[in-house]
Amino acid sequence: MLRPLLLSGSMATGKSTVARLLAGHVGRRLVDLDERIEARFGKRIAEVFATDGEPAFRQVEREELGRTLDEARTQGDAPIVALGGGALLPRDLRLRALDEGIVITLEASPAEIARRAAQSGGRPLLDGAGLERRAAELSAQRAPAYAEAHARIATDGRSPDSVATAVLEVWRRDPVAVAAGTASYVVDIAVDALKERLPELSRGASSFLFVTDANVSMAHGASAHKVLGPLGVPVAEVVLEPGERQKHAGTVEQIWRAALAAGADRKSLFVGLGGGVVTDITGFAAATWMRGVSWIGVPTTLLAMVDASVGGKTGVDLMSAKNAVGAFWQPLRVLCDIELLATESERGFRGALAEVVKTALIGDPGLLELLESAPLELVQWSPELRVEIVRRSIRVKARVVSEDERESGRRAVLNLGHTVGHALEAVSGYSRLTHGEAVSLGLVAALRIGVGLGVTPPELAKRGEALLARLRLPTDVASEPLEDSLRLIGHDKKRAGKHVRFIVAKAPGAVDAIDLELSSLQALTRGLAAPAA
Ligand code: NAD
Repeated sequence: MLRPLLLSGSMATGKSTVARLLAGHVGRRLVDLDERIEARFGKRIAEVFATDGEPAFRQVEREELGRTLDEARTQGDAPIVALGGGALLPRDLRLRALDEGIVITLEASPAEIARRAAQSGGRPLLDGAGLERRAAELSAQRAPAYAEAHARIATDGRSPDSVATAVLEVWRRDPVAVAAGTASYVVDIAVDALKERLPELSRGASSFLFVTDANVSMAHGASAHKVLGPLGVPVAEVVLEPGERQKHAGTVEQIWRAALAAGADRKSLFVGLGGGVVTDITGFAAATWMRGVSWIGVPTTLLAMVDASVGGKTGVDLMSAKNAVGAFWQPLRVLCDIELLATESERGFRGALAEVVKTALIGDPGLLELLESAPLELVQWSPELRVEIVRRSIRVKARVVSEDERESGRRAVLNLGHTVGHALEAVSGYSRLTHGEAVSLGLVAALRIGVGLGVTPPELAKRGEALLARLRLPTDVASEPLEDSLRLIGHDKKRAGKHVRFIVAKAPGAVDAIDLELSSLQALTRGLAAPAA
């Protein structure tokens, strides 16, 4: 299902022309935001700037964009919207547009912008002498905002038809954008994402450093090499021993050494094909090799797709301290190739569904309903359903992370179910329970504690528990060693002084962070040992 298409970018990059062309091709409703604004003021934009001033223009622009997105949502349609050059500069609007639609930035060189603007005239911010210099200044100022898009398409020397074709391709592909200023990137989710997308990403790369682990290499190494081989870029390969125990600095050094031996330079592209362990290590190796090179994540587990692929956290463990050493280093692209999940262990896949349930509780009531209505076999085996589940989960995480790139607040909501979950995982010695199974129990705990606090509606807690049980995940939190886990909750890294930031579900798709006294949380956790009412 297509989402609203928003064409953004500097003045004179051809947004209106391309929007009109596309609307004709695909028979969708066309909205030209500037026309709506002119209709509101009853005069041309240049006159609005001259008589009412830019702030009045921006206010109406904001209102009209909001109205356009509201209309698309209520009518359930996907219009094509041509935006003014400044329409998506307010970040709250931009994040909304990225979440609800597909945003494409059309780009042109300052010389080309100046040439087109001089031809058409009536561009308020570009009128007067020094057009090219002014266009260059505006482009530089707005670069971080324009980079937050699903795609950036260069228009110099291209016909509107060819630009429209490129736009249409992105629109149909429906990637998820992770907004992080000039480090923004997209996640592509498709049955054949690796084969379809890797060739275009290899352009300009001097070499590939391909990192995987022995299990993934056995299952998918040959097919990955079939894609890499014909691209004509030299490939060096590092195959790691599998498992969390390999996630340490020594493994990163193994990658650095391979990079050195292969003559990897600043234009080398690191590719991590594997679960979260491989993608976390590869990202960190890329962050540190020559002070940072580009990398592509190709997650091969459901957990790595729905969780590790978004947010730019890379790193390794230091002895028992998980992820103690690392860096925020956004990938160039993430390719979620759904086909790769076919060989993941059943237990690993099902465990990751607990993270999917968590994500649905945090921000997507529709995903909750989808999981409740689809038979488990379909969730496990239908490629179309997997694409849908992965895309919706990633969209929620991308929304949360984009609002809080450096984890200073809002990202805490992603810890729903993780306070008790982490403690139980640790008490189980990281062996009896998988991470996902511990999160499932942690979610049950968080839902019941939320009910105890009077925040979570009891029916929502019941719904959550029933869904986890339906996905054959553990829910019997009363039988877990809660007393042992209490000590660990006291050591949780999310703790601030005597308080713990605890995430509670308020409604389907809505959560809150509340500061709880450690002693109250411990008392509430102890109370879970009693059978649920
Ligand atoms: P993993 O990478 O250890 O993979 C689990 C096992 O499955 C491994 O033995 C692996 O070899 C095997 N495997 C992976 N893909 C396979 C496939 N398609 N077919 C067959 N075997 C396959 O574990 P994981 O659960 O994917 O990820 C856990 C790691 O992710 C942890 O280290 C965690 O810290 C990290 N993580 C990071 C983030 C982040 O934001 N960066 C978020 C969540 C988790």
